[in-house]
Amino acid sequence: MARDVTSFYLSSKEFLAKYPFHSRARGYVTLADLSVDELVRGGGELVVAERRIVRALERGEDAGAVMHSDDPDEEIVSFPMAVLLAAAVGDRWLQRRLALYESRRAEAFLQSDDDAALHEVLSDLGITASRCGRDEEDRTGYPYKISVADYLRLIRGLDGAEWRLVNRTVWRGWVFTTRSELVRLVAEEIESRILRRLEEVKVPRVPEQIREVVERIRGMLASRYARRLPSAEVSRDEATWPPCMLALKSALLSGSKVGHFGNFAFAAFLLSAGYSVEDVVSFYAQRPDFNERIARYQVEHIAGMRGSRTKYSVPSCQTMRAHGLCIEDGRLCPKGIRNPRQYARLRGRTTG
Ligand code: SF4
Repeated sequence: MARDVTSFYLSSKEFLAKYPFHSRARGYVTLADLSVDELVRGGGELVVAERRIVRALERGEDAGAVMHSDDPDEEIVSFPMAVLLAAAVGDRWLQRRLALYESRRAEAFLQSDDDAALHEVLSDLGITASRCGRDEEDRTGYPYKISVADYLRLIRGLDGAEWRLVNRTVWRGWVFTTRSELVRLVAEEIESRILRRLEEVKVPRVPEQIREVVERIRGMLASRYARRLPSAEVSRDEATWPPCMLALKSALLSGSKVGHFGNFAFAAFLLSAGYSVEDVVSFYAQRPDFNERIARYQVEHIAGMRGSRTKYSVPSCQTMRAHGLCIEDGRLCPKGIRNPRQYARLRGRTTG
């Protein structure tokens, strides 16, 4: 059965319209003889590609199972075109946001699609995972399994104690999961694949045919940046910030994932140094999965303005070290430092 269904999916435009990152979609674009030059000559596809980017900007991870066009051909071809547009715009945050959006869109489709579609995506991504046999399901209580090696690789960007290996059912080299957990892990790999593809596309000169669209997207980004970038005031005294906080700041500004604890530590540090909730939120706006309402709520919570009204203190150096966030094991910091908050004072004493 699997063979018939799989071959159906392999050849189905409807499948590729949902999962346009699939290698077969790449082959489809090549087979249709659409070179970059021909891609950018596209009419309808270019409009749909721009729509993809605008939706990625607006929705981020809240993508949903949406089609951008009624025509599967346009849907498939507009994906590499959107990748080309994002590469031509040359903005790393936009590229991460597009990868995040496309991976969450595929995740939404996979959640409701059948196992043949899931199997096809898993095998294309090279992930060793499958449905459990009856014995395994009876023994573990889980219907799906993924190899330990793939599991460990895919949880790197995921926050939450529930993903830690110690909290999982592991047996004979497999980690056992629900279907929705497995699909979440698959989405992580899809995001990485799209990011790699974005890195591969080189656009040394923006082709004339897409210049207008590229400028329009740059305009949208400029207005978002004007709202999002931390004010100069925020960075006023970062020469006195410890290396761990400078590293977190760089990671946030480049849109890299810093993990739940890193986000918390950085927010607590900024708040303790007297920055406003507004300033702190502006840093988090650099994350590709930024959601202003949630970010504001979390920062206000750390500041003690919500819930139990407890103001959280900056984690100690020992705790930072335990989370892998201390830089060079503290060698760049004054001797005896026990909390990042002490850095400026102790350093002043050392150099003064
Ligand atoms: S020693 Fe403390 S302040 Fe210095 S980098 Fe490590 S965690 Fe940060």
